[in-house]
Amino acid sequence: MPTAAGSPGAAATYETDVLVVGGGIAGLSAALAARQAGARVILIEKAPREHRGGNTRFADAQMRFPHEPDEFGHRGYTADEMFDDLMRISRGRANPELVRTLCENAADAAEWLTGFGLEWEPGYPHTAGYRRSPKAGGQGLIDLLYRRLDGLGGIVSYETAALDLLLHPSGAVAGVRARGPEGVIDLEARGGTVLACGGFQANVEMRVRYLGRFADGLILRGSRYNTGEGLLMAIAAGARPAGQWGDYHSAVLDARSPRIECGVTALYNYQMGIFVDREGRRFLDEGEDFRDHTYVKFSKQIVEQAGGEAWCIFDQKAYGREEFARAWRPVGPPLESPTLEGLARQMGVPAENFLETVAAFNAAVQPGEYDLDRLDGKRTAGIWPPKSNWALPIDAPPYLAIPVTGGITFTFGGLACDTSARVLDTRGQPMPGLYAAGEPMGELFYYNYPGASSVIRGCVFGRIAGGHAAARAAGS
Ligand SMILES: Cc1cc2nc3c(=O)[nH]c(=O)nc-3n(C[C@H](O)[C@H](O)[C@H](O)COP(=O)(O)OP(=O)(O)OC[C@H]3O[C@@H](n4cnc5c(N)ncnc54)[C@H](O)[C@@H]3O)c2cc1C
Repeated sequence: MPTAAGSPGAAATYETDVLVVGGGIAGLSAALAARQAGARVILIEKAPREHRGGNTRFADAQMRFPHEPDEFGHRGYTADEMFDDLMRISRGRANPELVRTLCENAADAAEWLTGFGLEWEPGYPHTAGYRRSPKAGGQGLIDLLYRRLDGLGGIVSYETAALDLLLHPSGAVAGVRARGPEGVIDLEARGGTVLACGGFQANVEMRVRYLGRFADGLILRGSRYNTGEGLLMAIAAGARPAGQWGDYHSAVLDARSPRIECGVTALYNYQMGIFVDREGRRFLDEGEDFRDHTYVKFSKQIVEQAGGEAWCIFDQKAYGREEFARAWRPVGPPLESPTLEGLARQMGVPAENFLETVAAFNAAVQPGEYDLDRLDGKRTAGIWPPKSNWALPIDAPPYLAIPVTGGITFTFGGLACDTSARVLDTRGQPMPGLYAAGEPMGELFYYNYPGASSVIRGCVFGRIAGGHAAARAAGS
């Protein structure tokens, strides 16, 4: 239950204009925007300073945003195209108003980050039409924004975890009760409280409750601190849950990855090979679409296979390509063998099945031009599942195999919000003084995920929330 503002029990009470809960991209964007608008800001971060930055710090932090064609020869990308991609990948279920707000503010948000001194890499060829990576990755992005917040006079309190929302008798959210180095403290915010404290991916009890029994064993790719309290405390105060609570973001991971905070250990080059299960059989169309539109979906299909794992198989035609090495970060070397029989033995899959699978696949490959930069239509015919693009026979030894599984990155379920990032209650009305940004915001992602959309989402809605709460403080 939320706590009444002014209730006894806190060791100290602090007052500010804008209170931000969580210091990843969404929280930092909220805090910076509020400071730029002249508001006093306190950001509380559950992690100690050396682990600050949430999921954002583990990410490459690639961002999708509209832009003109550039000097690297990448085609441009419009806000309408981005909108269509996000809506299509959510099978039409994403909230179109939130998606529109994201797409229309994404380029400006990227520009805003550049203004803080963020430097960008040019991006990957086949997706560079829309995505950019910060040169120093998520860790560099986080460190830069903490430095800027410090420079602007924002206050950050580490090892301080929000426990509960404080409510005014009017029903408005007054701030949070938190546990920190001083003990239990109350933090009251005149303008608003921004929940930017991640999803529930690091909370095994909530994972099992909302995703299912299988979810207790998933490898956690990012921060151990995103344990869902922001969502729970808002719901307990009357917020409306929204979005796909039964689904989550993941990736095709090297199955040998550390079980927690493994960071980027994903394979994004599987479209250059095939997957087989532990019986040596293919089970999905590896060339269905660009990897940005399949990696989340495929990772879940892999988890559904017996043992929750599969193998990704390549030959030297794939391995020799420049794009290959750039698109994977295995945690160890692949298994390697001069023969398919030898590879099957090392993998422990029935050699007969595996040889039959590869032979059938190779025989089904159709002629055509192979081009990883587009959906090339170079496909198989007459086998199930097909490979719809980028099909080349697996016939150039030595052959390689990597064990793969799916992990969990963040959860899709969140809070209902309007386009000003205000949290909506179960009556559909904004809850005065309460905002959500980044992972706690629901209704953006369903079933699958359009690559490079979450960091930019955090920045766009964090910035909106911080600005709105600052204006509210100025008007109060
Ligand atoms: C390995 C990996 C690679 C990724 N690659 C990309 C990519 O390239 N592009 C992309 O768009 N997305 C990527 N993602 C996803 C993306 O990084 C995140 O979804 C996004 O950065 C989340 O930002 P956020 O600010 O909402 O949350 P976070 O960055 O997770 O920040 C939440 C913060 O809240 C704090 N917190 C939690 N609970 C409390 C509490 N009770 N009180 C106070 N503080 C609390 C946490 O400590 C944390 O610092 C990747 C994620 C991972 C793990």
